[in-house]
Amino acid sequence: MDASTTQAVKAPTVKLLIGGHFVESQTTQWRDVVNPATQEVLARVPFATPEEVNAAVAAGKEAFMTWKKTPIGTRARIFLKLQQLIRENMAELAATLTAEQGKTLPDAEGDVFRGLEVVEHAASIGNLQLGELANNVANGVDTYTRLQPLGVCAGITPFNFPAMIPLWMFPMAIATGNTFVLKPSEQDPMVTMRLCELALEAGIPPGVLNVVHGGEDVVNAICDHPDIQAISFVGSTKVGTHVYNRASLAGKRVQCMMGAKNHAIVMPDANKEQTLNAIAGAAFGAAGQRCMALSVVVLVGEAQQWIPDLVAKAQSLKINAGTHKGTDVGPLVSCAALSRVEGLIERGVADGATLELDGRKPQVPGYEKGNFVGPTVFSGVKSGMSIYDQEIFGPVLCLSSASDLDEAIALINSNPNGNGTAIFTQSGAAARRFEEEIDVGQVGINVPIPVPVPMFSFTGSRASKLGDLGPYGKQVVLFYTQTKTVTSRWFDDSTTAHGVNTTISLK
Ligand code: NAD
Repeated sequence: MDASTTQAVKAPTVKLLIGGHFVESQTTQWRDVVNPATQEVLARVPFATPEEVNAAVAAGKEAFMTWKKTPIGTRARIFLKLQQLIRENMAELAATLTAEQGKTLPDAEGDVFRGLEVVEHAASIGNLQLGELANNVANGVDTYTRLQPLGVCAGITPFNFPAMIPLWMFPMAIATGNTFVLKPSEQDPMVTMRLCELALEAGIPPGVLNVVHGGEDVVNAICDHPDIQAISFVGSTKVGTHVYNRASLAGKRVQCMMGAKNHAIVMPDANKEQTLNAIAGAAFGAAGQRCMALSVVVLVGEAQQWIPDLVAKAQSLKINAGTHKGTDVGPLVSCAALSRVEGLIERGVADGATLELDGRKPQVPGYEKGNFVGPTVFSGVKSGMSIYDQEIFGPVLCLSSASDLDEAIALINSNPNGNGTAIFTQSGAAARRFEEEIDVGQVGINVPIPVPVPMFSFTGSRASKLGDLGPYGKQVVLFYTQTKTVTSRWFDDSTTAHGVNTTISLK
């Protein structure tokens, strides 16, 4: 028996959550949850059986009968309590997240915090799930809408934000009166499970929140299940497109937030030091494993001379385990991710880009087995090169150039992705032109990662998104509800003598 098998046998198992109980899966298929800085096996996660997926959906279906009628204030107060519990357990949540995902402890707290903001938003559901009313649309006739919950909804989440993204999903789905089946990433499900424990502690009743683990088979079962009404997916473009097509065909409402290639434009009038700091943080933070990470910077005009300063900034970042104080760049999530990113760097060189800074195989004393790649910078990057055409999802920054703002905007608009983009400039006119002309759903002006706060919605666009409505904010209230429009007339005793109306007009 080798060391990893011995560790795996001793490691605790991640439970399923079905009908309010954390239960051991009966599956024979398990996968290790591995610390990416050390390769220590932290836990074993099951790939749930079809019967277990059915049981989770059935629990959600039964719970919906009462949950949908639960007073809005009761629902809101559960999320008020949950936000308090998350705050009280912040340090422990961040430590779990760093252990299984690798990002630095302060960034792990940020991951939890950006999810916590959605929980706070869910607590204000009383002001969000409001219908419309028009009186006297005809004589004595009023029209109003009800935003009714759909039933059992499901969420499928990626590895890179194991706290924030589950919290994008189940709080708003449940606050609007639905029940939920969550399928966390099999790579790092532990912090997600801890959040679910806190959600039950906050008062979410049995069956309202259920969790199943697994991969392709479980996701397909969710897409096909006749008792699931809507699916929110966040992950890669390939899987998201599959989920969208398969679940839409099965008649479900689906939203898929997917892969990206986020560009920033640097105008020569930008504040240099602030811009270089912003770019380095957004390109290399979380080891580049953010869907809104900056992966391409378009240097306009004289800003092309900033390459040595940008490289120096990248070089100054500290690579180490996420638990080390002062670490800027932690490990990639898995050995597979490491070899993929290293392979793409090799392809970049072969495709003719200039490798300004090579972050491969950094020395990290004490963590020799960790999945580390340091900040890496390519210049002269063009469309057609693998490092430009693919989402690298590692700490690799591609630099390209443009002679003016229009050329830079045209370059970004010709890229198929539309998750995020940014401009760095001191010119209001340039910023306004960019904001108006750019065909990307989330725009930063001197802000490198413009992820909206939850009173707005996440509005990635084009190839980065399928489905009309985004997660959280006002849009998600519409996503998780069916609008029912009621036209009503209450007759006065004195208005009974209108006779038969054979027209379509309301009289
Ligand atoms: P992924 O697509 O591999 O996995 C996402 C989910 O799909 C996981 O729960 C996984 O178990 C499941 N899955 C994986 N392979 C599957 C298959 N063949 N069939 C069915 N289900 C499958 O994504 P990931 O690697 O975990 O996350 C990184 C990706 O997510 C990046 O592309 C990133 O840009 C994207 N992402 C996008 C956003 C956004 O808001 N647009 C946010 C975060 C991450």
